[in-house]
Amino acid sequence: MKQGYLKRVCAMALTACLMLMATVAFPAPVRAENARNVPVLTYHKVVSKKRKKKHPEARMTLSVGQFARQMRWLREKHYTAITCDELYRWHEGELTLPKRSVLITFDDGYASTIERIIPVLEKYDLKATVFVIGATTYYGEHSKYISTRRIRELRKSCPRLEFQSHTWNLHKKKRKARSYARYAADAKKQMDAYGFEYVAYPFGFVTRKMVRAYRDNGIRMGFLFGDMFSGFATRNQSRYAIRRLEVPGTMTMDEFKKMLESPGR
Ligand SMILES: [Zn+2]
Repeated sequence: MKQGYLKRVCAMALTACLMLMATVAFPAPVRAENARNVPVLTYHKVVSKKRKKKHPEARMTLSVGQFARQMRWLREKHYTAITCDELYRWHEGELTLPKRSVLITFDDGYASTIERIIPVLEKYDLKATVFVIGATTYYGEHSKYISTRRIRELRKSCPRLEFQSHTWNLHKKKRKARSYARYAADAKKQMDAYGFEYVAYPFGFVTRKMVRAYRDNGIRMGFLFGDMFSGFATRNQSRYAIRRLEVPGTMTMDEFKKMLESPGR
């Protein structure tokens, strides 16, 4: 009798132990909803209200108020702004992202635009990526492009802003295919100067040779641009052909909301 009772107690204790171990070893799956696609917003210039009024139709230009309203809406809708690295890890299946994630990007690296967006990003607790044309960062302090000194400063003082590549010196309006060696040298320069790992192709123009040369020299992901390549980033896209959504200066707030909340997301 006594032995049987002991056995039962032992068995119960053992079961409890095993159950506890199982919970520790195999925690219940986290029910975070993984994003199926991610909007990668593309901006160029953010200017003063006065300047925008002078050129209301300028496609590449938003007023600071326009930009701030969009950022406020993203915050109100609980969007999480992510980095290129987070998008890359999600794309590779290494990271789960909240359903409402967004990557906010700026092409060209205009100095005044960068100074204007920082307070807005701070106010709404968002992050952004600036794709700079490497060679232009050496034009000096009075250039319209951000300087290498300012990039160094901001990398220390403003972690919500990250700098990545818009190529070293291939930002030419005239689309021209180059040799593998030329692309490789271009990628290597930006890697040596800034350690860039992500590239936004200038004017969305890219060739197979460029992808190979960039990939061989440490670039992990490439972003497209233009009407033909407009869309959300998905895991089915090639790492070197990630789609983006342009936010033109002529876009109304309603159009902005519609673009982000399109059905099927
Ligand atoms: Zn550009």
